[in-house]
Amino acid sequence: MGSNPIPSARDRATSMNTFHIWTIGCQMNKADSERLETALEQLGLRPVEQPAQADVVVLNSCVVRQAAEDKVVSTLGAVRPLKRSQPQRILALMGCMVGPKTDALQKRFPEVDLFLRPQQYGPLLDLVGQRLGVDWEGCIGSLAPAHPEVTCYVPIIHGCDLMCTFCIIPYRRGRQASRPLDEIAHEVELLAARGVKEVTLLGQTVDAYGHDLPGQPDLADLLYRLNEVSGLARIRFLTSHPSYMSQRIIDAVASLPKVCEHINLPVQAGDDQVLERMRRPYTQAQYRQLVQEIRETIPAASISTDLIVGFPGETEEQYQRSLEMVEELRFDKVHCAAYSPRPGTVAQRSLPDDVPQEEKARRLHQVDDLQERILTEINAALVGQEAEVLVEGRKKGRWFGRTRTDKLVFFDDPGDWQGQLVNITVQRSSPWSLQGAVAARS
Ligand code: SF4
Repeated sequence: MGSNPIPSARDRATSMNTFHIWTIGCQMNKADSERLETALEQLGLRPVEQPAQADVVVLNSCVVRQAAEDKVVSTLGAVRPLKRSQPQRILALMGCMVGPKTDALQKRFPEVDLFLRPQQYGPLLDLVGQRLGVDWEGCIGSLAPAHPEVTCYVPIIHGCDLMCTFCIIPYRRGRQASRPLDEIAHEVELLAARGVKEVTLLGQTVDAYGHDLPGQPDLADLLYRLNEVSGLARIRFLTSHPSYMSQRIIDAVASLPKVCEHINLPVQAGDDQVLERMRRPYTQAQYRQLVQEIRETIPAASISTDLIVGFPGETEEQYQRSLEMVEELRFDKVHCAAYSPRPGTVAQRSLPDDVPQEEKARRLHQVDDLQERILTEINAALVGQEAEVLVEGRKKGRWFGRTRTDKLVFFDDPGDWQGQLVNITVQRSSPWSLQGAVAARS
């Protein structure tokens, strides 16, 4: 009775109390940050809004586009004086800006204590553990977010085995590595018990899930398993790759009530020669066929895509084929980007960036204008219909959430709909969102 209890990590976190994680980039980066946050919280640290208030500052970076990289560099510039003024503060740079070799980064950013590749939490937790005098491996259990929102990202496969010539991700996130199916199922059960209604399964090539695991389960097996998780209402997955999308996966989406009818399937170009230069292993005809198969099996499916315009050597004629594809396939979303060479990629090394900037901008605007018109038509057709919406919160005094097909919906209502599934009658539409009212039977 008289002995002193062993201090917990939380008790020892007096000299190292707080952390701040700044994140830019894709959903995978957001999920990585959430997981690091969970680990640091289990060590007794608490999150703070401002880096100036934090003992540990982490910048989770993205280099997929020049604009993202520029933002990381300017944010690093803003936090460097904080490190200088308080040298015991830990400053870490994580994510896709960090490759296997860090000499150049160390020279460029000497104030940074640690350079961490995506999901490489260990060295940071070692350092924090050392400062706290604890072995972090004994303190940290599951990395599933402790206080998740109603929707939550769950990474299921890391890295990518494909080598699209424009993409830096395989160099930064490494080879494809799937998490064991049981581990994911357990994590999703935990999240559902914590109030999560919708999970989005993440991977750079999410439909390649399981190909590297013993027994080769696939994404369909995982979807069947997760569909049984009680309390969970919806399952999404992204990003798919046309080469891995199988009829088994399409059938699982069609038949499982919790799996949402939404597939993100990047095409990148509508011309075979450009696809070949991008090293995308399919033709435009095969892609069209795949979209047709999805629509035949899942008539309500919404399909979104990614497209690059102004890729090296893309002629006007080749670009027109991309435009025709957008017109013909009537996607529910097109993430269109003008090509920008990323250092270290095959395209940057061997394909001259020969489409002038103004021409890239013209093509980009033309695709955006076309897609805006298509979305105006698609969304206008939803007016008068009812759609199930999972309410994520309030924005500017209005409730907002998403349909199963990933349409953003706003509505006004005095009730408390936070985290609820509600049927909304669509009353107005724009290309980017729907507005409606709670349907009578809700
Ligand atoms: S499939 Fe291509 S674009 Fe996607 S992560 Fe892999 S290399 Fe990059």
